[in-house]
Amino acid sequence: AGKGPAGPGGKKPAGPAEKGGKGGGTRVITLMPGDGIGPEISMAVLQVLEAAKVPLIFEPVDVTPVMDKHGRQTVPKEVIDSMNRTKVGLKGPLMTPVGTGFRSLNLTLRQLFNLYANVRPCRNLPGVETVYGDVDIVTIRENTEGEYSGIEHTLVNGVVQSIKLITRNASLRVAEYAFQFALEMKRKKVTAVGEENAMRMSDGLFLRCVKEMSEKYKKKLDAAGIVFEFSTMTTVCLNIVQDPKRYDVLVLPNLYGDIISDTCAGLIGGLGLTPSGNIGTEGAIFESVHGTAPDIAGKDLANPTALLLSTCMLLHYVGMPDQAEKIKESILTTLTEGSVRTKDLGGNAKCSEYTQALIKNL
Ligand code: NAD
Repeated sequence: AGKGPAGPGGKKPAGPAEKGGKGGGTRVITLMPGDGIGPEISMAVLQVLEAAKVPLIFEPVDVTPVMDKHGRQTVPKEVIDSMNRTKVGLKGPLMTPVGTGFRSLNLTLRQLFNLYANVRPCRNLPGVETVYGDVDIVTIRENTEGEYSGIEHTLVNGVVQSIKLITRNASLRVAEYAFQFALEMKRKKVTAVGEENAMRMSDGLFLRCVKEMSEKYKKKLDAAGIVFEFSTMTTVCLNIVQDPKRYDVLVLPNLYGDIISDTCAGLIGGLGLTPSGNIGTEGAIFESVHGTAPDIAGKDLANPTALLLSTCMLLHYVGMPDQAEKIKESILTTLTEGSVRTKDLGGNAKCSEYTQALIKNL
């Protein structure tokens, strides 16, 4: 969290839908409030944006799954049409139904809009006490395949198979995104992570692709003083909880990236604080890292900071950095003051009370 635009792509968002004429107009964004705490935290974000007079218009759409002609659940046409128009979405968490025959809607959205890089910045925030005070790690996770490719089947009774899909194309493009991100954001190190010894073909291909891309960017990386290294997933798990300063930008296959970014969230104070951007060739969707938090849904207890910081990434992406920084400042001020905090951060403020404090500090 903290500083940091959405990264490469932030300067040239794909095909903006604008209202109000040439440039400087109001940008239209697809809003998917989602399930569980999604509607509460989305409402908090809308209130802060309105108070900050941010020129965004939200087109709300319902992501409740519909059945396709093969009887499989999929994303409603309304969502696809809206995203095709606006190219940028803000999304609350979606519940993943348990059981067979269901496919994660998150995965479907990522695959539909080719959102190939999931960027998850994690930085200590002022006033939030943690074991380490100096975490500043950006996880860049391949977002469309790996163990989350959604290809699973029963071989025979009692034996199932899930495919870990790794392709050269997806590996190269996420690697390129990571190096461009490191250069643009003036980072100091990129670590490629995988278990090549155990997963020779799949992780092996991923890591070879990152190496190939590092060679393409070698001159630029050297000039910027950016170090490139490899590590195994197990080594990163050990080191990141002992000395998180060792890491800066991490580029990983899908599942490893999901695990490490939640670990990073734990290091900076929890899931209520960590934003993300799903960046693609056809647009982008911004969302918090956390899920629907069913244990606190509907109780006005959720922390909206993660979705708000995701909105700040979105504002950078659509070329509104001043508005992004203004909102970020109000978050930093509110957390530093410390008197109004949500329960996950040790306070007893409701989501709505914290939202009012953010608005006061704009
Ligand atoms: P979760 O992130 O919803 O909750 C984990 C814990 O963190 C809970 O104790 C919850 O109360 C807390 N928490 C999460 N966000 C918080 C916030 N903003 N403020 C305060 N506390 C917060 O993880 P889960 O329980 O494993 O998943 C619940 C559902 O969400 C599942 O159906 C899962 O598939 C789905 N999910 C969706 C997404 C997404 O849409 N991107 C991501 C992760 C999980």
